[in-house]
Amino acid sequence: MAEEARKKIEPVRSVKGTRDLLPPATGLWQRVEEESRRVFEAYNFREIRTPVLEETALFRRSVGADTDIVTKEMYTFEDRDHESLTLRPEATASVVRAYIEHGLFNDGGIHKLYYMGPMFRRERPQKGRFRQFYQIGAEVLGSDHPSVDVELLEMLALLVERLGLGNSTLLVNSVGCARCRPEYVKVLKRALEGVKSKLCADCQRRAVTNPLRVFDCKVEADQATIAGLPRILDYLDPECRQHFEFVTAGLRDRSIAYTIEPRLVRGLDYYTRTTFEMTSGALGAQNALMGGGRYDGLAEMLGGPPTPGFGVAIGEDRLVLAVEEAGALRAAVGLDAYIAWMGDGAYGPATKLARDLRREGLSVEIRRPTDAAKLKKSLGVASKLSARYSIIIGEDEVAKGRYQVKDMTSGQQEEVEPARLVAYLKVRMGTGG
Ligand SMILES: [Zn+2]
Ligand SMILES: [Zn+2]
Repeated sequence: MAEEARKKIEPVRSVKGTRDLLPPATGLWQRVEEESRRVFEAYNFREIRTPVLEETALFRRSVGADTDIVTKEMYTFEDRDHESLTLRPEATASVVRAYIEHGLFNDGGIHKLYYMGPMFRRERPQKGRFRQFYQIGAEVLGSDHPSVDVELLEMLALLVERLGLGNSTLLVNSVGCARCRPEYVKVLKRALEGVKSKLCADCQRRAVTNPLRVFDCKVEADQATIAGLPRILDYLDPECRQHFEFVTAGLRDRSIAYTIEPRLVRGLDYYTRTTFEMTSGALGAQNALMGGGRYDGLAEMLGGPPTPGFGVAIGEDRLVLAVEEAGALRAAVGLDAYIAWMGDGAYGPATKLARDLRREGLSVEIRRPTDAAKLKKSLGVASKLSARYSIIIGEDEVAKGRYQVKDMTSGQQEEVEPARLVAYLKVRMGTGG
């Protein structure tokens, strides 16, 4: 009976569309995150951490009640007290909510915030798309000046460079503002009337409900028609035109290459002026690594004071993939030292050495005693763990006051006094000392 019952237990598996990130792959994720933090903090961005759970209303209001994200993709559920909660599908709304909730606007000036963490969307699972995915983002709140846009784009160019993604393309556009965009939408609607019949069913619907969304269409047969539609840049009012010219001139000044992409529009009312995307050669042109833009109307929509904002969301899953393809960034994997010890008298000194090295920040592994006869095998463990050094401590070594240190790359072996070991290894690891 017991045997029968045991057989029936099926292992529990991860939820469809989610995945485990395991070592050593997590090493590369950490490197990407470290590099992002370093670059963001150099530009005086500071980290904000908001909850993964939010009231559903936040996303209905910000992302838009009629968007695919809100109608089809959110993980929304009723809490035990009947409140409707949602696992965040993106983080800008949460950042702006927190900005309002904590009255950060009271300090005046500019707030520069960054975040990293998981987001949730119930999309159709496909290669490289996950229902729990990760984003790294940065937001600037409190200034509508185009220098903010240029600075953030400059920061992203540096990040991409630091990650070894030389082959990236920056696409920019302006979507105007609440004053000039309606005029353009009218013109676009008229133009769509004439060509609607040639477009896909989704586009025909969008042509009526939200014409800007037509530009999101991925249907191959529609592309030629869409390319012939009027461009928003030709309909900007003087203020929006000036804003956009400041941004592009700033990019040229800093030798940051860009391409104007008239299709880069966003269908939500609170988006204003600059929009952008960055694609990576490593992933193909279809795959944007990051995207963002101005959202001068968002804070008001969420019940806060008028607060201009500009930000970026980076798809970390794709970023890590691109970094891996480019191969420029290596994850710090492997051990600094493996300690092989033999004989009871060596246990104390060996564990003390392990502690000393670990306190100095070196990555050290020490396991159960090694049989003197199996020393070779023990060094096999060290190379399996990618240890850079093996330290051999037997009772003889303890008596002599000198340990055997083997460089696992060159195979060279030296005797080193215990008191000198920390400095000896640190110099060779290039970490000072
Ligand atoms: Zn305008
Ligand atoms: Zn279409």
